[in-house]
Amino acid sequence: DLSQLNGHIKQRYVRVNTLKMDVDSAVKELEKLYKVQKDETVPDLLVMPPGSDLHAHPLVTNGRIFLQGKGSSMVAAALQPEAGWEVIDACSAPGNKTVHLASLMKGQGKIIACELNEERVKRLEQTVKLSGATNIEVFHGDFLSLNPADPSFAKVRAILLDPSCSGSGTVTDRLDHLLPSHSADNTNYDSIRLHKLAVFQKKTLAHALSFPQVERVVYSTCSIHQIENEDVVSSVLPLASSLGFKLATPFPQWQRRGLPVFAGSEHLLRMDPVEDKEGFFIALFTKTNNLDKPKA
Ligand code: SAM
Repeated sequence: DLSQLNGHIKQRYVRVNTLKMDVDSAVKELEKLYKVQKDETVPDLLVMPPGSDLHAHPLVTNGRIFLQGKGSSMVAAALQPEAGWEVIDACSAPGNKTVHLASLMKGQGKIIACELNEERVKRLEQTVKLSGATNIEVFHGDFLSLNPADPSFAKVRAILLDPSCSGSGTVTDRLDHLLPSHSADNTNYDSIRLHKLAVFQKKTLAHALSFPQVERVVYSTCSIHQIENEDVVSSVLPLASSLGFKLATPFPQWQRRGLPVFAGSEHLLRMDPVEDKEGFFIALFTKTNNLDKPKA
């Protein structure tokens, strides 16, 4: 089983659900079993040795901690939603980043968690329930069907967009290519699939940027492909700048940035599947809106 193999070579990360437990209590509890360190990049994220197995641990089964990778945990943290804001999670199931948003917002404000796939909506609802968050509204439907001009979204200030992607940054996906079933015939199929995903990713990113009061949009994938990452971002840049958005630099201290394929790609954040043990991509767009009173 490839995912099992993955578990033996990678450090394990757990994110503390601060809606239910504080970080120091979680460390104290987990230290009974494994060596625990606080992650240097993401607050509330803990690092454990490869092979640590917590899936049946009471802290996991009762939603006090979530088994969530580093890349995944960097996305909501990059968005930095404030307590009391209204936020949309555009493509949210199974909901790891949704409940991370709730934790960062201290359970205050409102999160609209949108998910198209019916089966995955059920998983999203389970995650939300497990987290104990009461400020998440699950919407079963297409994010692209939400009308940015609808008054019910007039106060939305941030959007997290983690759309369907090829998953090429995950170890399981990369090892898949070594299996006999992955023949040369797949190459053409793969490029058609990547192209279709990129079209969808561009469309949803442009849609996210078009909500009138949104001032922060984070775009992420667990893909290593430029076509799903830098190319998606560069294709929406003219629209983004016409709407007043700029690329911001999530986690400025992080060394690995976007591939140097356009001016500004140094703002983007990449994780390398080999060096960082996981392929991941994050872009952050920001603008100043007029929801806050101008400072005198
Ligand atoms: N953010 C999630 C998390 O961290 O747990 C993972 C999201 S996954 C990469 C992408 C999700 O987007 C899938 O569950 C997929 O069903 C959903 N999706 C795809 N197209 C969508 C659309 N048009 N509107 C809303 N959700 C969509």
